[in-house]
Amino acid sequence: MRRYLIEHLLIEASDEIIDGAVLDVDDGVVVWSGSSAQAPERPEVTVQRLSGTVIPGLVNAHCHTPMMLFRGAGEGLPTDRWLTEVIWPREARLQAGDIEIAMWFGAAEMLRNGITGTCEMYFHGEQMAQAANEVGLRCLITPPLIESAVFSNLGSIDDQLADIISLRDRWSGSDRIRVGLGPHAAYSLSESTLIRIAEVAAAEKMPVHIHVAEQPAEGDEITARTGLSVPSYLDRLGLLTTQTHAAHSVWLTSSDIDLFAERGVRVLHCPVSNGRHASGIAPISALRSAGATVSLGTDGPVSHDRIDLFEEMRTAVRYARIRQMDAMALSAREALAMATDGASVGNCDLGRLRAGCPADFVRLETTAPEFEPWFGSEALVDRLVWGVQPEHVRDVWVGGEQRVADRQVIGLDLEELGQRVRHRAQELATG
Ligand SMILES: [Zn+2]
Repeated sequence: MRRYLIEHLLIEASDEIIDGAVLDVDDGVVVWSGSSAQAPERPEVTVQRLSGTVIPGLVNAHCHTPMMLFRGAGEGLPTDRWLTEVIWPREARLQAGDIEIAMWFGAAEMLRNGITGTCEMYFHGEQMAQAANEVGLRCLITPPLIESAVFSNLGSIDDQLADIISLRDRWSGSDRIRVGLGPHAAYSLSESTLIRIAEVAAAEKMPVHIHVAEQPAEGDEITARTGLSVPSYLDRLGLLTTQTHAAHSVWLTSSDIDLFAERGVRVLHCPVSNGRHASGIAPISALRSAGATVSLGTDGPVSHDRIDLFEEMRTAVRYARIRQMDAMALSAREALAMATDGASVGNCDLGRLRAGCPADFVRLETTAPEFEPWFGSEALVDRLVWGVQPEHVRDVWVGGEQRVADRQVIGLDLEELGQRVRHRAQELATG
């Protein structure tokens, strides 16, 4: 067992910051946390002092991390052209080895930004899982299910489903890696395929991670054919359940919002990406008032440029307030809760440093000028959300194991990896 004596500790987004705290960790799990004045006596344990502020590891609800190989590509293009002219041709050239390099590098970037868990939709699930596991990042991997001639190398939908289930079975003993299904979107899959995916998800009890209503016109063909909005259509096919993770969900009607709340769908809000692609501002306040769950995701590194949930939190707060024209529409603390939602990677115990929960935590250096004046317990959580930049993230632990020490990712040569990433990115861009 190890005891951390912590200058300032935030146990969970909804709590107050404790000055002079103790965090006891054994075998990767929190054993005790709270004020040092109330801590149990443990004369035998190893003690480590941590200055600054310790918070739970952040959880990224929606990402395509290996797309960091395409960072900067297609800047400024409308989303449909960006996908078909820039991204898909590059993706069709990807090799399994590219995914491993990109995932190592992207996982390192996330850890250095205080992210300890991520929900990923990308190809080559086995390489994603291996790389995330080696770097020490928790990952819900949902390989994309896709019907397109560009991706004919993936095989039929039944082949793709069988591959995902065997990936799930291979990693079933892992504490870090979980596996779900990633149907890309309602508009890019046939009705019969969506029904098949719903059947498999129900039979195998697997999460379904899907893009929904990101752009205003993407569901027009479905609506013209069925008379239904995309959420109602997905519901009719059996795809809206408590296991559904609906990325973006920008263009929802009020009945779609009620339907999401009724079915217990988790909305993955990606405001930075929505701004970059001019998708719109998602109705987060209405979703939350209706009782739907909203988690925060960065989206892929081509849509955000940096995999940074602190920037995402600030953008979420600003957009929610602009959309409602109400400065109370979303608080910084609520945004932090949305960025530490363990259920978005399939583990409800993440995002809180309480007894029995995984010891995933981040030490922030909070003595910088941007955090002053540091006083008033209610205001301090806000101060963190508005103030933290990546350089303030100094140390990171996942499952009690230190993965970042003074901003260095333990065991990775980022310079060498960066050269490999640059080299492959150039090759993929030119074909
Ligand atoms: Zn996405």
